[in-house]
Amino acid sequence: MAKPTPITCEEALRQIYAYLDRELEGHAHRAIEQHLRVCRACFSRAEFERRLKERLRETRRATVSADLRARIRKVIGNY
Ligand SMILES: [Zn+2]
Repeated sequence: MAKPTPITCEEALRQIYAYLDRELEGHAHRAIEQHLRVCRACFSRAEFERRLKERLRETRRATVSADLRARIRKVIGNY
């Protein structure tokens, strides 16, 4: 299998969100992966974005469950 073509930091960062969302084609995904392995700066950036996304997901879940709890309490309160 051919090695993925090396990409620049600019290209890597432009696709970092798609990469983290796993929306890239196999070869494009591997190209970013390869770049992150050799580029400390982009790796840190990717890690930062990944953690940020995780935090956002957790926050959204917490908000939803709090909202749900309030709604359930309201429904129960009506009886
Ligand atoms: Zn880079």
